[in-house]
Amino acid sequence: MRDATRILRSTLTPPEPGTALHPGPVFAAPFHTPGDPANAAYSYARSHNPTWTHLEQAIGQMESGDGYRARALVFASGMAAVTAVFGAVLRPGDVVLLQAGAYFAARVLLQQYFAGMGVVVRTPATLSADPAQLAGVRLVWIETPSNPELGVTDIAAVSRAAHAAGALVAVDNTTATPLAQRPLALGADFSVASDTKAMTGHSDILLGHVATRDRELRQQIDQWRTLTGGVLGPMEAWLALRSMATLPLRLERSCANAQRIAEFLAAHPRVERTLYPGLPNHPGHAIARAQMRYYGPVVSFVLPSQEAAERMLQASRLITQATSFGGITTTAERRARWGGDAVAPGFVRLSAGCEDIEDLLEDLAQALDAIA
Ligand SMILES: *Cc1c(COP(=O)(O)O)cnc(C)c1O
Repeated sequence: MRDATRILRSTLTPPEPGTALHPGPVFAAPFHTPGDPANAAYSYARSHNPTWTHLEQAIGQMESGDGYRARALVFASGMAAVTAVFGAVLRPGDVVLLQAGAYFAARVLLQQYFAGMGVVVRTPATLSADPAQLAGVRLVWIETPSNPELGVTDIAAVSRAAHAAGALVAVDNTTATPLAQRPLALGADFSVASDTKAMTGHSDILLGHVATRDRELRQQIDQWRTLTGGVLGPMEAWLALRSMATLPLRLERSCANAQRIAEFLAAHPRVERTLYPGLPNHPGHAIARAQMRYYGPVVSFVLPSQEAAERMLQASRLITQATSFGGITTTAERRARWGGDAVAPGFVRLSAGCEDIEDLLEDLAQALDAIA
């Protein structure tokens, strides 16, 4: 079976006569557990819940590949999933390596909290397979394509070198989703994502997951989740299952739209720079082509000034101004309005939605004309 079919079918219930095609959410705190609780599949909902299980099986299947089966654990947000990997792996004295352009909240969490507890945080401009960079490192944190600058890292090459140096490798796979890129198949130990973005795609839930191939690592993450209690409600898990059924449709359309938008922007005289891994002149294009199936819905570009970016966003009739990305409607924002990322004042991060591409290109053309 191909991916789109498998993903769709993974959201169905078994064909028992008279039951619903899709499961409803199971609302529970404790479950019936007479006698020895070891005999009950579920006992208390901070540990496990049947609606999570269904979602975790669907995500685990997407993260699996030739010759291995991945298991996924879901969290209340992407950051809860990120924190679980940091918390389960890092101990005082350990060195963690992440690129300077990695997701803002992950960097701040490490620098403000984990560094204070004795973890050594190193943030080189780029990650490479260079043994000198990896010597003595416990965890390498790769984000590819990175948010918001869309830098590309060679997951297989860095994983090989990191393992040779005795380090674990985690990939923040948020911008791609496991349909477009499977970090575990490329050698990573953890595939982590904010499923708030393209994975669920409707801009209405927060969700995260961690997937692993290794039983022991999975148990550590599972225990972290139970002890810290950063768990999602069954309603969110159920909404996520519904949303994921259409991931192949949504992603195919939004990535095709992103490619066309990137090509349009790259040729536009008012745009100073366009960053998209699907453009042949992107420095990471060859690696992205080798390790990704789609280049993702996010296109970043640089306009000459803050004023130019604000005027363009205001003049657009189809771009919804909002943070986040990966939704079915096209959104964009001037990234520097938040601070935190070292980007130019006119830097715009755009997330291509599922609208008709001709409408989007016409709208972008008139919005860029408004810069004057
Ligand atoms: C949004 C995002 C996160 C955090 O996810 P939340 O669901 O907002 O907690 C982590 N990594 C990347 C790359 C993101 O874009």
